[in-house]
Amino acid sequence: MFQGKRSESNAKNRTLPVPIAELDAVVLSHAHIDHAGRLPFLIAQGYSKTIWSTAATRDLCAVMLADSAHIQEKDAEFLAKRKKEFIEPLYGMRHAVRTMDLMVGMPYNKPFNVVPGVTATYVDAGHILGSASIVLDCTENGVTKRLVFSGDIGRSGLAIIRDPVAPTGAHAVIMESTYGNRDHESVDGARAHLARVIRETAARGGRILIPAFAVGRTQEMLYNLHSLLREGAIPSIPVYVDSPLAIDTTTVFQLHPETFDQSEEMVKRVQEIFEFPLLKYTRDVEESKAINAAKGPMIVIAASGMMEAGRILHHLANGAADPRNTILVVGFQAEHTLGRRIVERQPTLRIFGDDVPLRAQVEIINGYSAHADRTELASWLDKVKSTSPDLGPVWLVHGEPEVQDEFATALTAKGYTVTSPEPNARLSF
Ligand SMILES: [Zn+2]
Ligand SMILES: [Zn+2]
Repeated sequence: MFQGKRSESNAKNRTLPVPIAELDAVVLSHAHIDHAGRLPFLIAQGYSKTIWSTAATRDLCAVMLADSAHIQEKDAEFLAKRKKEFIEPLYGMRHAVRTMDLMVGMPYNKPFNVVPGVTATYVDAGHILGSASIVLDCTENGVTKRLVFSGDIGRSGLAIIRDPVAPTGAHAVIMESTYGNRDHESVDGARAHLARVIRETAARGGRILIPAFAVGRTQEMLYNLHSLLREGAIPSIPVYVDSPLAIDTTTVFQLHPETFDQSEEMVKRVQEIFEFPLLKYTRDVEESKAINAAKGPMIVIAASGMMEAGRILHHLANGAADPRNTILVVGFQAEHTLGRRIVERQPTLRIFGDDVPLRAQVEIINGYSAHADRTELASWLDKVKSTSPDLGPVWLVHGEPEVQDEFATALTAKGYTVTSPEPNARLSF
């Protein structure tokens, strides 16, 4: 699903690259909305064959596609009011529900037949819960070749989920390149930074406001807070998860311990990773409002991650002017978002139509990316290559053009045959 400027993304999202009748199956890599968000649109257009995913991805989709359908319906309603004409939403709740009917959850590392001549296997991608790279074994005229689709590649050492595994024996690779031109702060550095911000803010008697995506980042924050509390590295203060979607996705995490990284101390030792004293999940609007009236230091985690919508806005409207508070940015902030203005430390913010002075501290932690950085991407590909004597083309996708170019140049220098295909290009290997 294309996101960003509504007018541009809307037209793109309503155009399919191939006619529905030519689609034999869908094999999904993970539940992030840029990957799964248009599945209900396929259904709205008449698709009725199987959609494959891992079991955890299927369950995350049940929550996220319903949320997305709700947003699509609200968006269309809003536009219709303004333009005074009927606007068909991209899809509705009934399409999201029907999508779940077609989705089949598969285990990792177990080959399954997608269509005659094509077998798929899901391999850990280490990106979010349920995320996978896809190994496609394609047989044509008695010859079998292996196409690897990276999906979004995660990082080693991320909390809760297992590390990425490089597929073997590839003849061609379709690879993501989101951070192909930069390296991240280390995972350990990020954790120490988090602890310091919480200690300092609590000592001032302030609140720590953490805008976070409902899937992945919220659970990662909870995991880190829980483990820092166990170590006594942060004071025991109330923690609120103030987002119904984040509460639902946390429940999906609890349903899938089979995907957890059993080499992590917390996973091995703690039965209830997402439960600890002073942690409160506030689903109710009234409970959410009550947080504003509460006194003393506390941590509030709320969506949306880029502070464009969701309950985080109430907390910012209420807390951005207080110099004791900290707004802790743990995710990427795109241009033209409130989050970006906060990262730039603009003196005044516009929230719900009001001007709010920004006097709270702003802290930025870059180490929480769920995407591999330049070094990690290259090392993933090197690992694939080490078991793939007949590796042919590497096709780069999922990155901004300049980033892709930079990454392509670096890989070409290492001896790879790299191209960045145009959208809808037909490729062979
Ligand atoms: Zn993703
Ligand atoms: Zn993605």
